[in-house]
Amino acid sequence: MGKIQAIRGMHDVLPEQSQLWQFLEDQVRSICDGFGYQEIRTPVVESTALFKRAIGEVTDIVEKEMYTFDDRNGDSLTLRPEGTAGCVRACIENGLLHNQTQRLWYRGAMFRHERPQKGRYRQFHQIGVEAFGMEGPDIDLEIILMTASLWQALGIDGLELQINSLGTSEERAAYREELVKFLRQHEEKLDDDSKRRLETNPLRVLDSKNPDVQAIVADAPTLMEYLGEESRTHFEILCNGLKAAGIEYVINQRLVRGLDYYSLSVFEWVTNKLGAQGTVCAGGRYDGLIEQLGGRASKAVGFAMGIERLVALLEEYHMPELRQTADIYIISADEARIHAQAVAQRLRVEIEGLRVISHCGTGGFKAQFKKADRSGAQIALVLGEDELAQGVIGIKPLRGDGEQQQVAIADLPDKLQEWIQ
Ligand code: ATP
Ligand code: MG
Repeated sequence: MGKIQAIRGMHDVLPEQSQLWQFLEDQVRSICDGFGYQEIRTPVVESTALFKRAIGEVTDIVEKEMYTFDDRNGDSLTLRPEGTAGCVRACIENGLLHNQTQRLWYRGAMFRHERPQKGRYRQFHQIGVEAFGMEGPDIDLEIILMTASLWQALGIDGLELQINSLGTSEERAAYREELVKFLRQHEEKLDDDSKRRLETNPLRVLDSKNPDVQAIVADAPTLMEYLGEESRTHFEILCNGLKAAGIEYVINQRLVRGLDYYSLSVFEWVTNKLGAQGTVCAGGRYDGLIEQLGGRASKAVGFAMGIERLVALLEEYHMPELRQTADIYIISADEARIHAQAVAQRLRVEIEGLRVISHCGTGGFKAQFKKADRSGAQIALVLGEDELAQGVIGIKPLRGDGEQQQVAIADLPDKLQEWIQ
């Protein structure tokens, strides 16, 4: 029989790596809390129509990357390729946007049928933040401050903040015309992808990762020249806010998001430590989206970060140490093993936060001591047949060279408190 394996581009997070995932998730949660953002959880599967409408028919995601299938009723469903569409859908559906602002965050698996490579997977994970109902640029600044706080909490430095303004859709339309004119003059030197984008979504050509295309685009007119007074002011206030907060940034005039509903501020955090897949966080303002999805027009700004890329970056900073999985390991004779579970349970209840592993299955004392040692526990408790009969248990320090002592099982929690201190 053939081996059954994980799907290409979809990965297991093994116990050793999950330590870093948890560290990251804990920091995110505490920062979101600190900024007054609440978590929202939405389904992994949505109507295909949602993503077509939210992301746009002429985007890479909708054209070629979605996991779309008909369910048993014949409805077209899609595994979510990103989190914003579902979040906005949920807010509209549950009336969370009626004359109120919302500060939300989400996390979870996303699915895109891309070519798998380092930092690019078919199932990957994002943590994202969305703020609804606020015009900014103060809120734009706020979400960038959140990301900056996160890098600090994670101990990651050396990320570059790139920002740009996309203006309003009218300003962008005027610019698009000029850009297309310019690109047509160089059309024969564009790659196929860019030629296609020139027809469907010309701003995305600016975003090309191909160095030849980048060289052409370097001389293209810039969107900044087409911004009106209001858009410029919005951008300037954001820039000044970043300066006042001591956050360094560079203006990248070629930073675009391909979608029509994006407007004004866009930003990315980029590292040079991960090769080509260097963007760990991307976001911006998308004031048009809520209306596009059938809600009453309302402002929106947000970002999403790629967890796999951040974890890869974290590995550069924190050599994953072998973490202790237990404080206490209970070693028992076969006949005492069930009773040892009761002892373990009582300890977990009485000593808050105590991590206890009680040996299960079979195994002699020697093998159990080895496992106890490997667990990283400070102390082994030994419950043999004789101890059980006498209502006592052995306490043996596993680090240093303390002697084994016996204490009454009834006194164990108090006694351990002394040892642990
Ligand atoms: P990229 O330019 O790298 O393809 P994107 O513009 O498609 O990114 P977004 O849709 O803005 O990315 O998603 C936000 C973040 O999610 C990215 O900056 C990245 O960190 C992460 N991300 C996106 N696609 C993938 C993927 N296939 N595998 C792993 N992480 C991803
Ligand atoms: Mg992409």
